Amino acid sequence: MLSFSSVTANTSPVTAEQFQQTGEDFTLAGDLTNQAYQLARLGRYEDAERLHSRSLQLKVGSVGRQHPSVATSYNGLGEAQLKLGRLDEAEVNLRTAITFREAFGQRFEAACSKENLAQVYEMRGDLAQAKDFRKQWGGKEFMVCSHYDCPHSTTFPFNELRACSRCKVSTSIYYCSIDCQVCDWKRHKRYCKEQ
Ligand SMILES: [Zn+2]
Ligand SMILES: [Zn+2]
Repeated sequence: MLSFSSVTANTSPVTAEQFQQTGEDFTLAGDLTNQAYQLARLGRYEDAERLHSRSLQLKVGSVGRQHPSVATSYNGLGEAQLKLGRLDEAEVNLRTAITFREAFGQRFEAACSKENLAQVYEMRGDLAQAKDFRKQWGGKEFMVCSHYDCPHSTTFPFNELRACSRCKVSTSIYYCSIDCQVCDWKRHKRYCKEQ
């Protein structure tokens, strides 16, 4: 990945040819991001990670790091690494995605990355931290349902969500409906703790 300094160090005027190349790189990067998310949907997480990584390189090279689409790539990278069980790498990329998305005022997107990061902690068996991450940044007013394929692409106030009753004492995970809870049970039951 190009570093921030290597991208911003070049202050010489941009030629028309370079400008066109930059636009083409950014368009290609967007295509790679879309393809990467589709591959992840098919369970091809290593391929998804590779494309997200390449897309991120192109985006940083063409528009720099301070762009919402860069945060999309960090989130995608983190998601793929989460599914691959590479939790430390996932945590770093998801934290970066959250920082950028919060800075850009993308509440729903930030809440999605926050939910992904909560699942890192869930997989580590740390339900208390998972709960904290779900409630941080947007606060209780801007949480997403913990089911990845929730049909509602929106945030919810905390009091409209239902907690898993088995981990009720730690109240670490929240859903918009019983349907979403049932759908996510196959994943969550490995980490659900009666406490
Ligand atoms: Zn839901
Ligand atoms: Zn549970």
